[in-house]
Amino acid sequence: MNETLERLKEKLALISDLKNAAAVLSWDQETYMPPKGAQARARQLATLSKLAHEFFTSDEIGELLDRLEPQVCDLPYDSFEASLVRVTKRDYEKARKVPTELVEELARATSLGTEAWKQARAESKFSLFQPHLEKILDLTIQKAEALGYEDHIYDALLDLFEPEMRTAHVKRILDDLRGKLVPIVQTIREAPPPDDSFLKREFDEGKQWDFGLRVIKDFGYDFEAGRQDRSAHPFTTSFSVHDVRITTRIQRDYLPTGLFGTLHECGHALYDQGIDPQLERTPLASGASLGVHESQSRLWENLVGRSCPFWEHYYPRLQETFPAQLRDVDLERFYRAVNKVEPSLIRVEADEVTYNLHIMLRFELELQLVERKLPVGDLPEVWNAKMKEYLGVEPPNDALGVLQDIHWSGGAIGYFTTYTLGNLLSAQLFASARRDIPNVIEQIRSGRFQELLEWMREKIHRHGRKFTPMELIQRATGRELEAESYLEYIREKYSEIYGDLP
Ligand code: ZN
Repeated sequence: MNETLERLKEKLALISDLKNAAAVLSWDQETYMPPKGAQARARQLATLSKLAHEFFTSDEIGELLDRLEPQVCDLPYDSFEASLVRVTKRDYEKARKVPTELVEELARATSLGTEAWKQARAESKFSLFQPHLEKILDLTIQKAEALGYEDHIYDALLDLFEPEMRTAHVKRILDDLRGKLVPIVQTIREAPPPDDSFLKREFDEGKQWDFGLRVIKDFGYDFEAGRQDRSAHPFTTSFSVHDVRITTRIQRDYLPTGLFGTLHECGHALYDQGIDPQLERTPLASGASLGVHESQSRLWENLVGRSCPFWEHYYPRLQETFPAQLRDVDLERFYRAVNKVEPSLIRVEADEVTYNLHIMLRFELELQLVERKLPVGDLPEVWNAKMKEYLGVEPPNDALGVLQDIHWSGGAIGYFTTYTLGNLLSAQLFASARRDIPNVIEQIRSGRFQELLEWMREKIHRHGRKFTPMELIQRATGRELEAESYLEYIREKYSEIYGDLP
């Protein structure tokens, strides 16, 4: 086996190097590249991605996997060898199922689609984007058919972002969640809103930057293996376990953007920095899925970073940093302000209570689109009606409604759901961590996060992609993914701010 395995590892290492080099180029593009570099950079990225795809889908990789499969079947399921062969085989089969012509046609359609979407959003005119979305939807359905599925065509798309997750399971969780969340949001709407006007005072950008770095250093982010830069949209990218970078965006006249953005991306980065270095240069060296990744960012941003114990420790330090802006604001007022719930039109600005309703709406529309039960032309009207039903607000135009997200223009249908799965999982994991570390809240209250991070490292981070999301969740929490922990968390936290909740 050794020789065959070494050969496979060598091939996979080369592909991993190509992908990580492409990631460096993308990171540069979003942070420091001058505007005129865009065309050349797009060509360079296309070349690297084409090479990686060709190497990976070659017959030789398939032959090596076929030879190795019977040799690793007696090894423990989570051994490096068995996991490598199993996960690579799954990726390989998926990558080989979609015909090259379809991949190329989708790349063209989404590249034109993204440009059309930008234009349509700028003019707030869905009709400009409609023909493109129709085309992208057609091709995406063809792709799903090529990938194959057992129960529902949407399974094939969901599987690209959440391996082995099924539509029926997601639907069950989301239906349950919606039934309980909509009345909670209605009750909160009727309560007097906390005052958050002081968050819109002028906060020096450099001081905001330094404060964020200080917090994530305490969280355990390794600055010897990462750095933070600025970008228009915050993101995390990884070139190796030892080089995981984050970006943030600072708003001078709105404190939460920069701070919570930094905490969120740090959560993603802690995951990537915590992957077992032995998995480097293989397909196992990244997060288990988008949903599991989002559970880590949400955990550090919300369950830790927007909690009362956290601010008991950091608020005096924040006041010291911004004495003129926060002198007249006490801890309780500040805590309530950063946890203000307000149904709004825009997903990315939504608070942690209303956020998931934005996702459910998109999930339901995607299902109907893929099932061909909803004509693309009817999207704006159905979108607005659902916004009114779930959140009680109605978009005045398409830009603030159906055109707000870039995802569909890039062909990412099946992606949105992972945000909600991440939110639910963050609460489920935190509940489990609290059981295992009885004084974790006390630790947070004194600015100590090491035990919580070690728990995540042990249960989630170090495994990389060895386990499917469902396996990982079951192992970490002893249960399958559920909405109850999240609902309990929301009820407990927000009834203190807004009074009794249903
Ligand atoms: Zn995220």
